[in-house]
Amino acid sequence: MRLILLGPPGAGKGTQAQRLVARHGIVQLSTGDMLRAAVAAGTPVGLKAKAIMDRGDLVPDEVMVQIISDRIEQPDCARGFILDGFPRTVAQAEALEALLARKGLKLDGVIELAVDESALLERIEGRAKETAGGARADDNAATLAKRLSVYRTQTAPVAEYYRGKGRLRTVNGMGTVDEVSAAIEKHLRAATEA
Ligand code: AMP
Repeated sequence: MRLILLGPPGAGKGTQAQRLVARHGIVQLSTGDMLRAAVAAGTPVGLKAKAIMDRGDLVPDEVMVQIISDRIEQPDCARGFILDGFPRTVAQAEALEALLARKGLKLDGVIELAVDESALLERIEGRAKETAGGARADDNAATLAKRLSVYRTQTAPVAEYYRGKGRLRTVNGMGTVDEVSAAIEKHLRAATEA
């Protein structure tokens, strides 16, 4: 099963991706986690990405597409994967389409978590407190505002891109983790039975 999870920062993509991993035995490909690992390891990509991430901007498309293209070739992706945080621009979505076609892989679903923006700041502030000490450098009010505006201008069109292809399924992301997870599973059943 190959899925894309879309939604603004704080929508719960990571939490839901972990549920999907446990349930379907597929891997979570979080580009944010990959970049943070690259920053921590001090790789050339990490060195380039750090300042961009800290200010809440997007890492260039070609860097991200290369990372994903390489990653989905790994043996642990053979059973499927959930893309969490990718694609974040229409150019990335188009590149993903082309690279999946080249590799002969099909996408089973694109799920959007819809959330109230007012709730996002609270969630992210909560996340920053929970991980105090090891908090993400980009989990603070100023950077969140920037990440939300980047989401609106660059990533919201990705949802429209998939909606236009009739592939987008929107789930209310404001419920409990269990409710959101049940709604996602319902869509997946419908998608795999179709
Ligand atoms: P995330 O953990 O998904 O919120 O990502 C954290 C940061 O990593 C983002 O604010 C971006 O700076 C960068 N990032 C993650 N995924 C992408 C992507 N697909 N394209 C560009 N930048 C990304």
